[in-house]
Amino acid sequence: MSSACDVLVIGAGAAGLMCALTAGQRGRRVVVLERANKVGKKILMSGGGRCNFTNIGTTPANFLSANPHFCKSALARYTPSDFIALVDRHGIPWHEKELGQLFCDRSSKDIVRMLLDECEAAGVHVVTECEAASVARGSDGFLVRASTGDFDCASLVVASGGLSIPSLGGSGLGYQLARQFGHDVLPTRAGLVPLTLSGRHAERLCDLSGVALPVEASCNGQSFRNAMLVTHRGLSGPAILQISSYWQPGDALRLDLLPGLDVAAHLRAQRSERPAAELRTVLADLMPRRFAHRLCEEWLGNRPMRELGDRALREIASALGQWPVIASGTEGYRTAEVTLGGVDTDGLSSTTMMSRHVPGLYFIGEVVDVTGWLGGYNFQWAWASGRAAGEVA
Ligand SMILES: Cc1cc2nc3c(=O)[nH]c(=O)nc-3n(C[C@H](O)[C@H](O)[C@H](O)COP(=O)(O)OP(=O)(O)OC[C@H]3O[C@@H](n4cnc5c(N)ncnc54)[C@H](O)[C@@H]3O)c2cc1C
Repeated sequence: MSSACDVLVIGAGAAGLMCALTAGQRGRRVVVLERANKVGKKILMSGGGRCNFTNIGTTPANFLSANPHFCKSALARYTPSDFIALVDRHGIPWHEKELGQLFCDRSSKDIVRMLLDECEAAGVHVVTECEAASVARGSDGFLVRASTGDFDCASLVVASGGLSIPSLGGSGLGYQLARQFGHDVLPTRAGLVPLTLSGRHAERLCDLSGVALPVEASCNGQSFRNAMLVTHRGLSGPAILQISSYWQPGDALRLDLLPGLDVAAHLRAQRSERPAAELRTVLADLMPRRFAHRLCEEWLGNRPMRELGDRALREIASALGQWPVIASGTEGYRTAEVTLGGVDTDGLSSTTMMSRHVPGLYFIGEVVDVTGWLGGYNFQWAWASGRAAGEVA
């Protein structure tokens, strides 16, 4: 005996709940299956518990995808202002932190509560502790086998997320279903993730764990200026998390350790003003002292400024502006905020997220090969893609 509904959504994360409430508002009978004991675990954990729920500067350029045009339609039709209007209707207080990032004043719980209230008002049935295991084609749609029973549905929306942080729900089901129904799945890897150093590189830096400084990190033509944090295994902080999505083993990654400063001119001026000062003392005025001292001990030397000629100062400035990082890898899915790659957008409609091969089958959110930068972009994609599918499923 199976339960019947119009739309079955696998995954009660950001994308699945937005899709469900949208379809429910159209009068569709919607069921959402969630294998965890509560919905929206990643929303609850996000933004340090305050959910960075969107970014007011969202453009398609803030996303990585094999097809950079795919995200345009959905993002244009459900914008950050649309989501802010929803948040405001629910009286949820929020603030802008930096770089267009919007956070809840109180708690991420406000966002989950809002989504659940909207689902309830739209008659959506959310079932927790129910894991979708497999899907077969039915006579008029799909038959989903789940841990608590079977479900018949006309439309099936796969919103099961990516592989990052398995304890918060990461699962491979979405990729498995995509392949089963004839979709390509582009190679997946951890994104927005700390980088690891090994051997001599690790020895030279990792005991500085906890030291943070602003840098500009560049790789494969992309740059991010933000904070970097030294960890006991490598490098983290927003600048590193951002650039990690553009880095793959073997790629050159460079850091400007004093972004925005004409370092050569500054060092020349310091040589005139403080000729007896050691280089490490001069650098310690510009960055954390322990980091400056380590740079001098291990790489730059530590002569008094008066002994450094113009050429030496140019070389030091150039080294500080183009610091090479030899990363050995990433911390992997265990700590990654997102999964890069996923269901190939070539097989999906960019306006509805529906499969081009199987009518009635939809993929939304992180399982799709669209990945945002750090800063609220990934939730905006979840809302926008969920909305796009919910309007037609
Ligand atoms: C620690 C952390 C902090 C983050 N902070 C931010 C932030 O502040 N801003 C931002 O924009 N992005 C942030 N992100 C990224 C963001 O959380 C994701 O991009 C977003 O949650 C993806 O939404 P989704 O609905 O596609 O997938 P998910 O949120 O992963 O939801 C998928 C759901 O499907 C369920 N599921 C999986 N398999 C099955 C199955 N077989 N049966 C039933 N249910 C299943 C999972 O349990 C999960 O609840 C953060 C991510 C992490 C890990």
